[in-house]
Amino acid sequence: MKFQTAIFALALSVLANKETFVSAGATEPSTEADSESGEGGLRKGNHDSRSRRRLQTEPCLLMLKKTLMEDRSEIEEVDCYDPSTEQFVHISGSSQLLKEFHDGVITSGTSTLMQKGAYFDDDEGSLIFPDLANVQYGDDPEARRKLAVTTGTKEMLAVRVIASDASTTSSESAISDAWFGTSGDAVNFKSQYEACSYNKLQIDPANTNDVSNGVTTVTISNTVSGTDNGVIRNAVTAELGNLASQFDHVMLCLPPGTSGGWIAYAYVNSWLSVYNNQWCDYVSGQMHEIGHNLNLAHSGETATYDDQSGMMGYSYSSDDGPEMCFNAPKNWQLGWYTDRQETVSEWVEWRPYRYCRLR
Ligand SMILES: [Zn+2]
Repeated sequence: MKFQTAIFALALSVLANKETFVSAGATEPSTEADSESGEGGLRKGNHDSRSRRRLQTEPCLLMLKKTLMEDRSEIEEVDCYDPSTEQFVHISGSSQLLKEFHDGVITSGTSTLMQKGAYFDDDEGSLIFPDLANVQYGDDPEARRKLAVTTGTKEMLAVRVIASDASTTSSESAISDAWFGTSGDAVNFKSQYEACSYNKLQIDPANTNDVSNGVTTVTISNTVSGTDNGVIRNAVTAELGNLASQFDHVMLCLPPGTSGGWIAYAYVNSWLSVYNNQWCDYVSGQMHEIGHNLNLAHSGETATYDDQSGMMGYSYSSDDGPEMCFNAPKNWQLGWYTDRQETVSEWVEWRPYRYCRLR
């Protein structure tokens, strides 16, 4: 049924183009609106004016962060994954870097950055480069090897959070059911990705000493109310230790009350996604954010999310729907139907076209 939806999206594209061509520039052109979000990094509350600073001692991994807001806008920011602390840190003054992402100069999850004199401001939760206009980027070959693998088995962990003033609303078992269908939820993240991929991607809920059915609970001492979600995110990941080496995807279900009207966000071509409380339970939001982890951009013609023929459009606040896969360009990029694709070297109006033949 879900696969049929994908076929339907393909068929629509076919109809729109008369010939059997379905997508122009199917190698995932960026469709994001160029929204400069300014300084949206971590903001702790009251703190001493003398900042705690430490120099950057090793390259950090550049990460494009895409946040879905309640008003349907998108915020793009740049964070850097600091291997020395295993934390995602906001880069101060990063609009220049956003342009580099859009121009293809750097790639989220593989490009690295280090500059003499760069320092972490641990009070502000940010990383400050002395001269962002003149930086030299590096590349992490190990990260590149893992670039957006879209087939095989993915081990996943969802995290419930107990803070001093609030807790994630859903129980561990409810979160597990929403992501993995462990208590009979028929339409869940696992069921949808496996159906959409025709089982080329398998979802495996983590099971270890501390984790059962893919979910664990972390207790932190922070106050959630009015706090930037990045502060809570880093407090949670600090409790859990090195997540990147243990799991393919980690989903943080934060308690309600953090500042700002955000729904969820993910790092592109990475392993972490973060959800504002009950958005962790909604299948369209789950699929959308993990899609970003798998290197998918948004779907849209005139606005960022206006293509709702696939899960990279706007997300729906529904636990069980809609039952939908990804649109044609995303399906091409994900490579799940390679046995049904053919490429022709033909130019139409100076644009390269690719088409899929459905069998
Ligand atoms: Zn998004």
